[in-house]
Amino acid sequence: MIIKPKKSLGQNFLIDKNIIKKIVEVGNVKNESTILEIGAGTGSLTEYILEKKPKKFFIIEKDKNLVDFLNNKFGKKIHTINDDVLNVTENLISTEKLIVFGNLPYNISTQILSKWITNLDQKNWYENYILMFQKEVANRILAATNSKEYGRLSILSNWKLDIKKILDINASCFMPKPKVTSTLLKFTPKKKFLKLKNPKNLEVVSRIFFNQRRKKIKNPLNQLFKKPDIIIEKLKLNINLRPQNLSPETYYLIAEEYEKLGN
Ligand code: SAH
Repeated sequence: MIIKPKKSLGQNFLIDKNIIKKIVEVGNVKNESTILEIGAGTGSLTEYILEKKPKKFFIIEKDKNLVDFLNNKFGKKIHTINDDVLNVTENLISTEKLIVFGNLPYNISTQILSKWITNLDQKNWYENYILMFQKEVANRILAATNSKEYGRLSILSNWKLDIKKILDINASCFMPKPKVTSTLLKFTPKKKFLKLKNPKNLEVVSRIFFNQRRKKIKNPLNQLFKKPDIIIEKLKLNINLRPQNLSPETYYLIAEEYEKLGN
């Protein structure tokens, strides 16, 4: 069976065996692990993950042809779900905590990351997840306060996840070759984080602040709160600062105050 990569589904298959092995090692897969691989393609990662003999192996893959291909290749060792990952309720896949691998199209990686972070059901269904991003996006996720890349993605991602950069991956490790460098990130749930009733409020707050990136923070505070002075006093905010100068923790506290208004 010959697989012709579909551009529309962002199909860039990993071909560099050393990189594939490195990615698999990051997952720390054991005999008792349950795996979820998203966008398995032709199974280049799948094959090496299976060598670790995990207990269970689920795959979500949107392309029906590839699902047939994978079922053919790996048979009963895998359980395939032929769907768009953005439509799947991850909580329902397994009662075990999942180790998630995803070398997905970059735009899907970012969307799925936001989806998982802002899920209302805050039950942790994963042990960790390992996702591929375009390097520039990974840098925004990892960005420190006060840096140019710091923004909504950094604030949101750091809320309940520890994030570790694993490695940059050269375009030549893929077939066909993408136009950009990739970066692999590993996300692990934080033990302690500020609980929010609805994490979407954190999205709202950070969006309002960073829509006015260059303005002082008085502006977004006025927009979010009827009585901003009370919040400024309570959180000891310096109103001469700009959005990029506030730490992620400050944004979590602002989101908490915003929720108290009934949002
Ligand atoms: N992980 C494989 C394939 C990478 S290509 C490898 O490393 O070689 C990206 C894969 O994600 C393709 O197989 C594509 O069909 C699949 N995909 C793209 N969008 C998807 C979506 N929304 N949901 C699930 N799978 C998707």
